[in-house]
Amino acid sequence: MRSLSGIQPSGILHIGNYFGAIKQFVELQDEYEGFYFLANYHALTSSPKGEDLKANTIGVILDYLALGLNPEKSTLFLQSDVPEHAELSWILSNIAPMGLLERAHSYKDKVAKGIKPNVGLFTYPILMAADILMYSPDIVPVGKDQKQHLEMTRDIATKFNETYGKEVFKLPKEKIVENVATVPGTDGDKMSKSYGNVINMFGSKKALKKQIMSIVTDSTPLEEPKDPDNNITKLYALFATEMEVEALKEKFRAGNFGYGHAKNELFDKFMDYFSPFQKKREELENNMDYVYGILREGANKARNIATEKMDEVRDVVGLLKKN
Ligand code: ATP
Ligand code: MG
Repeated sequence: MRSLSGIQPSGILHIGNYFGAIKQFVELQDEYEGFYFLANYHALTSSPKGEDLKANTIGVILDYLALGLNPEKSTLFLQSDVPEHAELSWILSNIAPMGLLERAHSYKDKVAKGIKPNVGLFTYPILMAADILMYSPDIVPVGKDQKQHLEMTRDIATKFNETYGKEVFKLPKEKIVENVATVPGTDGDKMSKSYGNVINMFGSKKALKKQIMSIVTDSTPLEEPKDPDNNITKLYALFATEMEVEALKEKFRAGNFGYGHAKNELFDKFMDYFSPFQKKREELENNMDYVYGILREGANKARNIATEKMDEVRDVVGLLKKN
């Protein structure tokens, strides 16, 4: 059984990426043959400076490794080291109806947030379908925002198979963990690199604390009882046991407990959880040859599968091969 997923190096990763996606990648490693890539072609949709994209890409591979992805068990690679993804994306774009893409929530949400879309952002689900279908995975562990993209992937695969009368592509299933399906950002919306509402995992203690302190709350005075199901509680629940969450809620209900106090408790929990990973990441940063070696090895493994798949695809759609 195979699992595949990717994350865009479109910024610095946040706890939504961890709980929604990477934590699952790590937990699935023993049971599934894992393929986890860095979606740097996808990251181009936000028009980054070249230097920034390179730096973020290095950041994400360090994060993958520090957070527990094991290169002995899983294949870790850069999307752009397997350019067949772009070729398959082009072929699939001639299968996908316009209407399918026009219905994409993720695209509409980004435009509604004021992001000026380019064609790449619009056709992103097709590249994602290519990323997935290339490797015939059984499952794709993702956050809830990707559910519709997986449906689109299956639609495109089905239409391709029907059009060419051959089961070239296997239909993948999303794997979403319900209680962390959408981690809220500091403003209560979905936490996203591109929305500036993140809590990162790595960075200076001061910067991380500032992010936690910026969680939006209402202006209920300190002494009064507060809504226990606020943003702080939702984030606290990621790190705490049910009993601890209940205790926090009780303090909110009782009054004389300010949002600032709660944020401090959240910060302590956060640091307890991520400190060991932060240490590991620092060690990896001093060992970049090892890190680049993993990417090289991953690219070779992924590319072998991709070239084989593309031979089949090119043949079936009628692209002549003369060398
Ligand atoms: P961008 O804003 O550039 O789209 P992003 O923060 O949404 O970045 P992606 O690289 O698009 O991150 O997504 C990587 C993975 O993380 C996907 O599986 C996605 O579903 C998951 N993910 C992203 N944000 C969250 C969130 N807030 N809660 C749960 N999972 C999330
Ligand atoms: Mg996203």
